Amino acid sequence: MLEILQEGTRELLGIELDQEQLDRFQLYYEELTAWNERINLTAITEYEAVQTRHFLDSLSLASSDLRGDPPGRSFEMANASLIDIGAGGGFPGLPLKILYPNLQLTLVDSVGKKTGVLEQISKSLGFSDVQVVNGRAEELGQSSEHREKYHFATGRAVAAWPVLAEYCLPLCRTGGLFIAPKKGDLTVELKSSEAVARLLGGKLRETPGFQLPGDDPAPDNIRRLIVTQKIKRTPGIYPRRTGLPSKEPLE
Ligand code: SAM
Repeated sequence: MLEILQEGTRELLGIELDQEQLDRFQLYYEELTAWNERINLTAITEYEAVQTRHFLDSLSLASSDLRGDPPGRSFEMANASLIDIGAGGGFPGLPLKILYPNLQLTLVDSVGKKTGVLEQISKSLGFSDVQVVNGRAEELGQSSEHREKYHFATGRAVAAWPVLAEYCLPLCRTGGLFIAPKKGDLTVELKSSEAVARLLGGKLRETPGFQLPGDDPAPDNIRRLIVTQKIKRTPGIYPRRTGLPSKEPLE
């Protein structure tokens, strides 16, 4: 059962998944594919591909090496808070919660049908403490309940980096990390990243390119976690009103 995931987690994180974690990943696979028949959550449904391109890809955020944490000063995710913007079918948040059951996870999506499914899946997995929010990142970023509250903020396949940065950095507390998992050529996307990070109170880190265990070794499959550390509070004007970050991305 889930051999690719087991082997990949060993290789990627040096971690041996226990039976409870494996049972939860198996159930997640079954729930995801069953819900996907009724509402479009993912184009990837094949057993092997889900293990690599959803589960392992999500778990890569747990690697302190891939996050570029300074040696000996790894920023522990196991007991931290993490907000996942545009979670869709739950990626990357839910696999990280399966890995770290004490993670304080908030899943956000602007589509109510998707957050409804995320509530159901979280419940099936036995997670009564996952917070699921139906809303837009731009609104959460300006609400006192969520702004500057999280150790980690992330979003996968939601928007180009400057847009995602405006969604996520206001949600990070000072000292926290905004992690954008990306793949392929990022030259254009990251053109103004240093300046945009600075504008939002963050500083980019150097992080390595990597390939997922078991993934096809095409150059387009080279991945990187684009990691920004929050070094000071985000100016109150960010995030701008709904729709503006994607219409007129910061540069
Ligand atoms: N993160 C998931 C994954 O990697 O499989 C889903 C990616 S899906 C392509 C993008 C999701 O982001 C959609 O479910 C969409 O509703 C949500 N989304 C886009 N913009 C958003 C925003 N500003 N606030 C909240 N959710 C947003």
